Amino acid sequence: METDSLRHHLEAHFPQHLALLEDWVGVNTHTENAAGVNELGRRTAEAFARLGFEAQTVPSAHPWAGRHLFLTRRGATDRTVVMVSHLDTVFSRDEEQKFDFRFRREGDKLYGPGVADIKGGTVMALMMLDALRAACPAEFDDVTWHVGLNALEEKLDDEFNRLLRERLTGPALAVLVFEAGADWEGRWPLVVARKGRAEFRIEVEGRGAHAGADYWKGRNAIVDACRLPPRLEALSDRTKELTVNVGRMVGGTEVNCVPQEAVLLGEIRAFREEYVREGWGGVRHVVDDFNRDLSGVGARAAVTLTEMLPAWPRNEATEGLFAVWEAAGATTGLAPVVRQERGGLSDGNLFWHDQPTLDGLGPTGANTHQSKRSEDGTGEPEFVRVSSFVPKALLNCVAVLLLLRNPAFRP
Ligand SMILES: [Zn+2]
Repeated sequence: METDSLRHHLEAHFPQHLALLEDWVGVNTHTENAAGVNELGRRTAEAFARLGFEAQTVPSAHPWAGRHLFLTRRGATDRTVVMVSHLDTVFSRDEEQKFDFRFRREGDKLYGPGVADIKGGTVMALMMLDALRAACPAEFDDVTWHVGLNALEEKLDDEFNRLLRERLTGPALAVLVFEAGADWEGRWPLVVARKGRAEFRIEVEGRGAHAGADYWKGRNAIVDACRLPPRLEALSDRTKELTVNVGRMVGGTEVNCVPQEAVLLGEIRAFREEYVREGWGGVRHVVDDFNRDLSGVGARAAVTLTEMLPAWPRNEATEGLFAVWEAAGATTGLAPVVRQERGGLSDGNLFWHDQPTLDGLGPTGANTHQSKRSEDGTGEPEFVRVSSFVPKALLNCVAVLLLLRNPAFRP
């Protein structure tokens, strides 16, 4: 196999890819900064155009969001490989400035907004395609490549998934998701499962009153709402890896008013769909109990399910891909390649059920969504390991070649 020529090409071109990452990280692409997201889309399309990819951008239905980017290179055959990344990050410009969070190298670590989640991943996809084109032009030309970049992955909904699917002519050999690989020393984790997530909103209604004149007539919605979080949290079950989290709670208006209303926002997560539904049933139970206990005294709660995204459980098609990457790990000396199941969601959650999907294919990184360095040194912001790019790209290239050369994987 062309392992040596791939490695050589990846190493020789790494400085220019690192410079590209610095350029991309310099563009603020907070999900709601549509101009920034679109600018990164333009620069990304330009980089992939050098490899023969055609770009198409599609506006989101959400007015605050930027445009999704779809890059395609039609091959000699319909054998399709899909690569998934995203343009947006969770970091607003204000947050970047407040914590002086920008592209910065310290030893083997590269810090900056989106270096791991997920601009380093997009660079990884580019490095792979560039090396395959140079070292294995026959395979590169044979395959139809799709690179999809979600404009609003951090606010996950199914819009991007729908648009990407519309562009595929048939089942793909693989859907490869370029979220960062976890920083597990000496091991190369790939993501084979992710939790599903249900989001809920509870509105608690009390009785508003003047805190001075009519205090005893009021019913404090904040005080009543505070009964809920401990009961909701108690629905979490470690043995089922089911978690229920109250993430936000707001209530009241002025200090001199007995609060009329309070709102709780929460979420349920589990690897198994049935446990997510069980968690949701539990939340409704808690609210029913609340109403039974308190409706006679003027308090009332109403709960709504605001979002439900499916779990990505361990499955056969993902395992098939994992086995290919494991074999590639042995070929490239990058063993051990190991499985990771993650609590966070990705675009993979919406592909796995009918397309073989593997995630965590980006460079090694950690502390995603974190911008602040704590003074006591215990907290550090999002980073990727510089030394992980070339070996991981080599691993991914060799695995894709194994996949393409294994007739069992022909659709
Ligand atoms: Zn993220």
